[in-house]
Amino acid sequence: MFSTVVLKKFEKIKTPFYYYDLSLLKKTLHVLTSSAGKFGFIVHYALKANANKKILHEIKNAGIGADCVSGNEIKEALASGFKPGSVAFAGVGKTDEEIIYALNKNIFCFNCESQQEIEVINALAGKTGRTARVALRINPDINPNTHHYITTGLEENKFGINKGDLENVLKLLQKSKNIKLTGIHYHIGSQITDLSSFKSLCIKSNEIQHWLNKRNVFIEHINVGGGLGVDYHHPEKNMIPDFESYFKMFHDFLELQKNQKLHFELGRSVAAQCGALVSRALFIKKGVQTNFLILDAGMTELIRPALYQAYHKIENISAEVLRKSESKTNKGKTLKSGDENQIKYDVVGPICESSDCFGKGIMLPETKRGDLIAIRTAGAYGEVMSSTYNLRKKVKAYFGK
Ligand SMILES: *Cc1c(COP(=O)(O)O)cnc(C)c1O
Repeated sequence: MFSTVVLKKFEKIKTPFYYYDLSLLKKTLHVLTSSAGKFGFIVHYALKANANKKILHEIKNAGIGADCVSGNEIKEALASGFKPGSVAFAGVGKTDEEIIYALNKNIFCFNCESQQEIEVINALAGKTGRTARVALRINPDINPNTHHYITTGLEENKFGINKGDLENVLKLLQKSKNIKLTGIHYHIGSQITDLSSFKSLCIKSNEIQHWLNKRNVFIEHINVGGGLGVDYHHPEKNMIPDFESYFKMFHDFLELQKNQKLHFELGRSVAAQCGALVSRALFIKKGVQTNFLILDAGMTELIRPALYQAYHKIENISAEVLRKSESKTNKGKTLKSGDENQIKYDVVGPICESSDCFGKGIMLPETKRGDLIAIRTAGAYGEVMSSTYNLRKKVKAYFGK
C-alpha cells in the first residue's frame, strides 16, 4: 500500500490525513460483485461505513445499491448517483421528515423496526398519497461473537422486532392500507469473522419464513444485512475479504423461494482495508513503565480504539519503507523489516482523554519525532466518525490510484 513513491508524496502533506488506495477499493468491489453475481445476490453498500464522495463514486460505479440509516445518507446516495430504487432505509429512529423524504423519492424499501414505526409510516404514506414498501427488521436473537457494542441481533439490543411480537405486527399490517410488506430484514452485528453465525441466521430465517407462509404471508425479498468482518491484524495478507465463502454460506443454507431475491448490506468489508489514517510522531516520552509515542492524530480522527477497544495495526512507515529503501541504495544491502531495533510503545493521540490511545505495548522500529505513522484498516468507520472535539479541524483525504 505504501511504496516509496507514495511516501515521498506524503512528506509534503500536512498530517494527519486519510489515505485511500482506490485501486484496492476497485479490486475489492470487483471480487464482491463477481462473487455475489455468481449466486444472483443483490448487494447494497452501507453508507455509514464511509461516505466520502470519491469512495461513493467508485462504489456506485460498481453497480451496487445503497443502504442508508438517515435521511441525509439517502440524499448523499442519490447525489452520488445511486438509484432511488436501490436504496434501503434502516434505523430504529426515523423522523417524520426523513420518512416523508424517502417516500417522495420512492426508495426500494423501509426496513421497519417497531410497531409504532409501521403506524407512522402508514399514516405519512397516506398523507403523501404513496404506498410504502416495507421489510420487517426481525431480531433473530443470534449472538455473532463480536464486540458487544457492535452486536445488534440479540433480544436485549434495541434493534428490530422480536419474534414474539410478529403475530401482532401481521395484524397491524393488515390494517395498514398504505404499506406493502415486501420483505424481511436482519442485521446481527458487525465485524463478524465466524461465518457460522451467518449459518445460524440462515436457519432462523428459514424458520421465520415458514412461520409467515403458514399464515399466508409471502415475501419478495430477504435482506440479511451486513456484518462481514475484515482482518485488522493482517491487512496485507487479507486485503480482500473472502466474499465468496460468505455468499456461499447463504447459498447453501438459506432457502429462497421461487423468484425471491436475497439482499445484503455490506459496509466495513467493502471500505475498511483500502483506507489508512496517516499521522506523524510528535513526541516520544519516556513513562515510568512504558514509552509513549504521541501522534498528531487522535480519537477525533479515528474513534474505534477508544469506542470499541478495537485493534488497528500501527506501522512506522518512515522506518519500514523509507529508511529501508535509503539504506538499500546507500549501502547496497537490504535491511529486512525487524532489522531495526524494535521498541515497545503505547501509541497515543493528543486529545485530553485517557481513552485516546491507539494501542498499548506496540512493537515498532525505533521511532523519531517526525516519522510517518500509518494506522491501517481505517477505511470503514474512520473518517465518517471523526469529530471536532478539542476544536480540531476535520482532516483531509488523499487518494492513490
Ligand atoms: C451498519 C449496518 C450495516 C453494515 O454493517 P457492516 O458491518 O459495516 O457490514 C448493514 N445494515 C444495517 C442495518 C446497518 O446498521
